[in-house]
Amino acid sequence: MNIVLLGPPGIGKGTAAGKLSKKLGIPHIATGDMLRENVAQKTELGVKAKSLMDRGLLVPDDVVIEMIKEKLQNDDCKNGFILDGFPRTINQAEEIKDIKIDKVVNIQASDEVIVERISRRRVCSKCGFIYHLDFIKPNREGFCDKCSGILNQREDDKPEAIKERLKVYREKTEPLINYYKEKDLIVDVDGSGTPEEEFELVLKAVS
Ligand code: AMP
Repeated sequence: MNIVLLGPPGIGKGTAAGKLSKKLGIPHIATGDMLRENVAQKTELGVKAKSLMDRGLLVPDDVVIEMIKEKLQNDDCKNGFILDGFPRTINQAEEIKDIKIDKVVNIQASDEVIVERISRRRVCSKCGFIYHLDFIKPNREGFCDKCSGILNQREDDKPEAIKERLKVYREKTEPLINYYKEKDLIVDVDGSGTPEEEFELVLKAVS
């Protein structure tokens, strides 16, 4: 099954996609994670993308399109995949229109819920596992349960960048809801509950 998770930053796409990937046995493909890997490794792409990402702006379409097309050709995507954070513009969606998408799960919540949730998010600097200081708490404060890596707040999870990311989402990404509605692929999911509640709804949406 080929699934797209759509929704504003911080709504929990990454957490839900990780669980869904385990449950369905198909890869979780997150352009944000791929870009952050490039930033960490200081590749040419990473160096260029970093300042845009830190400010909450999108990186150019051609960069992510190339990345995603390459990834989707991998053998492990033959039985399906979960796209998280891609497409983010109509142009990106058009670029993959020849790839069959079965469901687009549109996760929604109010700006207040999103801002609150993002400000409580911490990410392992080593393995990338996502924590939430209330809902997905690490056992030892500041350290990852899985690999003991140090937990950080993403630069773009800080207040100024969050505002920008929400603005960019409304302008550039939200039009995708109608785009996929017209193709009869959208299933709406309430993302304002706990991570467990959200995952149950996402699972139901793709079942
Ligand atoms: P995310 O982890 O999905 O919130 O993405 C973090 C940042 O990576 C975004 O704010 C953008 O700067 C960049 N990014 C991730 N996916 C895309 C995309 N599909 N198109 C453009 N920029 C992206």
